[in-house]
Amino acid sequence: MQDQKIVVIGSGPAGLTAALYAARANLEPVVISGNQLGGQISITNEVENYPGFPEGTTGPELVELMQKQAERFGARIEIDEVTEVDFASGPPFTLKTHGETYRAEAVIVTVGASPRRLGVPGEEDFIGRGVSFCATCDGFFFREKDVVVVGGGDSAMEEGLFLTRFANQVNVIHRRDELRAGEALKQRALANDKISFVWDTVVEEIQGNGAVQSITTRNVKTDETAAMDTDGVFIFIGHDPNSALFQGQLEMDDREYLIVDKKHMTSVPGVFAAGEIMDPVFRQIATSVGQGCAAAMMAERWLEEQE
Ligand code: NAP
Repeated sequence: MQDQKIVVIGSGPAGLTAALYAARANLEPVVISGNQLGGQISITNEVENYPGFPEGTTGPELVELMQKQAERFGARIEIDEVTEVDFASGPPFTLKTHGETYRAEAVIVTVGASPRRLGVPGEEDFIGRGVSFCATCDGFFFREKDVVVVGGGDSAMEEGLFLTRFANQVNVIHRRDELRAGEALKQRALANDKISFVWDTVVEEIQGNGAVQSITTRNVKTDETAAMDTDGVFIFIGHDPNSALFQGQLEMDDREYLIVDKKHMTSVPGVFAAGEIMDPVFRQIATSVGQGCAAAMMAERWLEEQE
């Protein structure tokens, strides 16, 4: 059992920034990394919109820099996963991980969100064998192949453009006839010779034999179904918050994002939240960093008030 002033759950931009601020306030924060140190940006190739990097940077580089900066001021990062929390009988709050039990005076939850699934037959079966949620991770395996990208948002365009480095042909399948993506990415994708668009269409099934070979699509306007051969299906249809661990303990909205007040405090005093676990709207590195900073400042103030 370890007694801590503050534990940060999650190690994405929100978590590492919260840790930096808590460390500089002498709170000696412990960060429980989760199963992916750095969170979603650790598998993001290009980052062009985070201020301070005029030439752009990469996700892994940002994670390393943020980690080093937090550690420089005394944050301790544990590569472990929180498996159970008890927020009802605190503070101190009890958190169990695979290897340890922590008692924390305050907690900052920054566990982010995960890629949403299509929920069609074949999707689960072919994950890692043609179905992917990360072009940066898996694009390389599709050199000279044909792939499908599902979705019409910024992620679908960004990842689709990245896939053109490897694939012969990238077919974007979108359920409407208009992209949701912002103007810059939209124009780049529409102008790319390797990208073609299949509008008003959804994927109904993913088929293969050991690896993905084809999909069945349905035009939502005509209801016509069609078969399309493909070697890969990259799915970018948004994200869902990783809030299952907090069911019944912290208040959530109807989409299961944590509800926080203006001070980033959840429904339990002393438990704060920042980043994509409480923000379905902005979802940028820059906004997560700002929210992590705010949550740590409020947690520091709250701890002071308790003394
Ligand atoms: P998003 O903006 O929510 O877009 C999701 C896309 O998937 C939409 O086109 C949506 O269609 C489609 N979709 C949702 N559920 C579907 C389903 N069940 N079947 C088929 N299609 C489905 O998600 P995102 O692209 O991941 O972006 C999330 C946020 O991060 C946005 O705010 C975005 O601006 C931001 N982001 C920014 C950048 C950047 O600035 N470089 C890069 C990536 C992400 P509809 O359009 O019909 O709803």
